[in-house]
Parts: sequence; C-alpha cells; structure tokens
Amino acid sequence: MLIETFIRKQLGLKAHTVTKAEETKGYMVIHIDRLGSRLLRCGLCRQRCRRVHSICKLREWRDLSMRKLPLKLRYRPRRVACPRCGVRVEDFPWAEPWARVTSALSNAVARLARELSWQGTARQYGLNWKSVATIVKRAVQYGLKNRSRPPVHVIGIDEVSRRKGQVYLTVVYDLERRVLLWVGDDRTEEAVRPFFTEEMGRRRCHTLQVICMDMWAAYAKLVREHAPQAQILFDRFHIVKHLNEAVEEVRRSEMRRLSLKEKVAFKRSRWLLLKNPWNLSDEQKERLSTLVRWNAPIVRAYYLKEAFQMFWDYRQPKRAQDHLEKWMRSAVRSRLDPFKKFVRMLHGHLDGILAWTQHRISSGAVEGMNNKIKSISHRSFGFRTADHFIAAIYHCCARLPLPVER
Ligand SMILES: [Zn+2]
Repeated sequence: MLIETFIRKQLGLKAHTVTKAEETKGYMVIHIDRLGSRLLRCGLCRQRCRRVHSICKLREWRDLSMRKLPLKLRYRPRRVACPRCGVRVEDFPWAEPWARVTSALSNAVARLARELSWQGTARQYGLNWKSVATIVKRAVQYGLKNRSRPPVHVIGIDEVSRRKGQVYLTVVYDLERRVLLWVGDDRTEEAVRPFFTEEMGRRRCHTLQVICMDMWAAYAKLVREHAPQAQILFDRFHIVKHLNEAVEEVRRSEMRRLSLKEKVAFKRSRWLLLKNPWNLSDEQKERLSTLVRWNAPIVRAYYLKEAFQMFWDYRQPKRAQDHLEKWMRSAVRSRLDPFKKFVRMLHGHLDGILAWTQHRISSGAVEGMNNKIKSISHRSFGFRTADHFIAAIYHCCARLPLPVER
C-alpha cells in the first residue's frame, strides 16, 4: 500500500485526498487536495455545499508522529457558499476550525496532560507550553459543554489553596459519583454563588439533599438561599482537622515552656498524639506514657481528642447529642484555650454536626481529589494565573469527555 493511501485512510478523508507525502528535515509533510468535485461541507453547519467560492492560502496542521517523524498536513482550504450561513471556510474532517493541530494530536495531548505537567506534555510532543495550554482549555470547554449532568444529591464544598496558601479556590464535588462538579476562583460567598445560580440552576438545586462543608466556610447562607431543602452537614473530615489543630496548638505552647532535656524526649511526639492509640508500636506507647507523666496539658488535650472521636460511632441522634454536650462541658473545664475555641465553634453549628448520625457522609472520600489538585499545582510549580489552574483542575478531576475524532 502506498503511504499516501495509508494516510488518506487513517485520516478518514472522503472529499479530500493525499496527493503527496514527502520527507523534509524533521517532518513528514502530507499534501492534501480536494478529491475531484466531491461536495465540501460548510465549516459552521457542516451541510454539504454545491458552490466553492474561493481558495484560501495554504495552511498547516501538526499531526501525530509516524515512527520518529511528526506529520504536517498541508492544504489550501476552500471557502464554500453555504445556503444557510453564506460564504464560510469549509469543514476539515481532521481538525477543528480554529485549530493548528489535528484532532487526533490534540486529543493525544489532552490525554497526556491529565498525567503530566503541561511542560512535560509539551516536551513529549515537541510543542510549546502555550499550545498545550490552548489545547487543554479547548478540551475543557468542550467537555463542560458536553458532559452528562445527572441529578446531584450529595455535594461537598471545599477550598484548595493555590501557591502556598495565599490564594484560595472553591471546589464542589458530587460525593456520590466522586467527581468534581465546579471550581470557583475564590472562597467568598460571591465567588461561590454562580455554582448555585449558573452551574446548578433553580431546577437542579431542588434535588440537593446533603451539603457537606467546613464549619468555617462562608457557604451556609448560600445554601439556605438556593437549596433550603438540603441538610447542611459539617464534615467529619474538617471537624477532626480542627480538633487535631487544637491538640497541636496545646502541644506547641507547652513545648515552648519545656526545658531542653525534656524537649528531646518530646521530639516527634506530634505524630504520637495525632495517631490512633491502637496503631502505636510498643516503643511509641512507651514514649507516650513518658509524655503522660511529664506533661498534663498535652495529655488532657490528647484524651479530649480521643473522647470526642467516639461521637462518630453513635447511631442514635439523642445519644450522640448527649455525648457531644457532655464532651463540650468537659472541654470547657479543661482550661485549654484552643479547646475552648473549638467548643465555641461547635456551639454555633450543632445542627449541622449532629446531622452526621443520620447521613454518615464525609467528604473525606474526596480527600484524594484534593491531594490530586495539590499535585497538579506542584508539578506545574504553581500556576501563575487562576484560570490556567482552574482549567487543569477540571481537566484532571471532572471526568470530562474529549471531543470525538471523526
Ligand atoms: Zn452552513
């Protein structure tokens, strides 16, 4: 089989043909021309058009490589007179109208960009970073427009930081399907409102049943406004995080008071206190008991934390509530400021915390997703602009469909 025939078949050309394939330095150039008088399609509505209006100047498209040689398609597009749209550039079966690479190449690039940094992807395909950014953004645009949108019942709203905790984005996950739904470019109420008004809309907001979030988040008012039927659930994952922070704060302020000799013994004790007791080795248990003898505040913090954790096991709302109230009283009596602060936070959010016994849903399940987002940011050395980062997040976490290759 001639190489021209092979490429024509691979490209699936019907109204076009390959006239010549020539090897130049660094590329295999594929010359394409019209095939006889077969009808060309309008680039806008894809309808077949009888009349060709004029011929444009020569254009080139980068394509995948054959062995080591990247292919370049060369063709002079026709303008067709479409009865519906007027004079338009024809439709190319190998590429989108705007594109300078073929659909096959842009899909291959988009797939690799889910695994590698944009820089790494660019290197792999001999493109520059900017071309990869354009391809990913177009793929995301297409994906968002064409993704399936089944009813959503349980969502988690969370924030992720961009560039060392200075700039924050809001991410919304569908916790049942474990997929990213939406990304907002800040963590304020105003920035998240479009999720309810634009992405979900009135009708889809009605199906929401449970909304998981952090107690500190500014989203509760939005939920009451746009999805009043939904139960707000302050997330186990976040509550435990605040609890651990309280323990850590006590530990740190105690460490400042300790003598040098005592400090050596306490080194790395941070992990001892955050670990579950049944996961400790003998040596670690030993160190923990030294800790117990030497420092009462740290130990009080530690046992308070352990006692709190029992809350998650209660199945009856009344019992869970009793436990929580008892715990809050003992935490206030503990004379540990970080715990008093934590109790004040709980007090303001009791309804959404007690909802746990009924729903037992946690966005901890999507913690993997947040880690993925962190690694996306890492491998790209932090995106300089939010919209690149947002595109990358959608691209890797939202399971968007890629354009269909014709
Ligand atoms: Zn048309």
